[in-house]
Amino acid sequence: MTATMIDGKAFAAGLRERVGAAAATFTARAGRRPGLAVVLVGEDAASAVYVRSKGKATVASGMESIEHRLPADTTQDALIALVDALNADDAVDGILVQLPLPRHIDEQAVLIRIDPDKDVDGFHPVNAGRLATGMDGLVPCTPLGCILLLKDRHASLSGMEAVVIGRSNIVGKPMAQLLLKESCTVTTVHSRTRDVAGHVRRADIVVAAVGIPAFVRADWVKPGATVIDVGINRTDAGLVGDVDPAAAEVAGAMTPVPGGVGPMTIAVLMRNTLVAAHRRAGLPAPEGL
Ligand code: NAP
Repeated sequence: MTATMIDGKAFAAGLRERVGAAAATFTARAGRRPGLAVVLVGEDAASAVYVRSKGKATVASGMESIEHRLPADTTQDALIALVDALNADDAVDGILVQLPLPRHIDEQAVLIRIDPDKDVDGFHPVNAGRLATGMDGLVPCTPLGCILLLKDRHASLSGMEAVVIGRSNIVGKPMAQLLLKESCTVTTVHSRTRDVAGHVRRADIVVAAVGIPAFVRADWVKPGATVIDVGINRTDAGLVGDVDPAAAEVAGAMTPVPGGVGPMTIAVLMRNTLVAAHRRAGLPAPEGL
């Protein structure tokens, strides 16, 4: 193997430690702990696991975890009323409504109701607009985690050819915006792109967010490229990414699955909550996060 494996688990642990230290300073200054409210509707097993991990990470970071578990038959109006109450609650700095929501609820109608300054998932159109126009906002956790790993690996991303595979609102689109902000030359490819391999072959940075096991083949990767694998695919062989692990023979650096991008998402959620708390309290953003 030639590639350096990027240890997302270790990086995320370091980030969580820095967030914990900054949260303690915030608590001393503001007289209260930063608060993250997580709302879970229904019994989806995977969502319940995510919510539990988020709650544990929040407490471990010295922040207040506020959990609301609602039955699957909760009405959209009742959920929106809860979001309104959390928006108005001064002890709440971040609000996260765990997706997917039951089918009778319009996700967009709920997400758009969250106060953009408490939108720690960064999914509100106001935050998407802030990211697109270069204003301070809250950025979706997974792509921000990818950028932190890339910036840790490269002193500057300026001028690099970056190819993002996938154009979801959660990963692909904000990822492309973040790379553009770092002055990369960005190409986004998707299911209608004519020659995905041709685009990937000229990329210095590849970010794969497709949801297809081993979609990116080793012979697509430019020697020395940095490959960020966002994919989390459950297969009979266990958890696999969107990049063929054999690409590590060609890449300069690559994130493994598991242990690459995955652990970054919750660490960045903690970071976003802390940043939201500082902004709401009128305090300068903590350094080094
Ligand atoms: P998504 O909403 O399903 O989007 C997938 C994207 O891939 C779409 O834009 C789709 O194009 C594109 N695509 C599908 N087939 C393609 C093909 N044959 N060639 C080129 N592009 C193709 O998925 P997502 O939410 O962005 O997530 C992507 C992956 O990341 C999943 O494996 C997910 O589990 C993982 N993920 C991980 C984390 C984490 O914490 N690490 C967080 C979020 C997501 P179209 O738009 O044209 O359909």
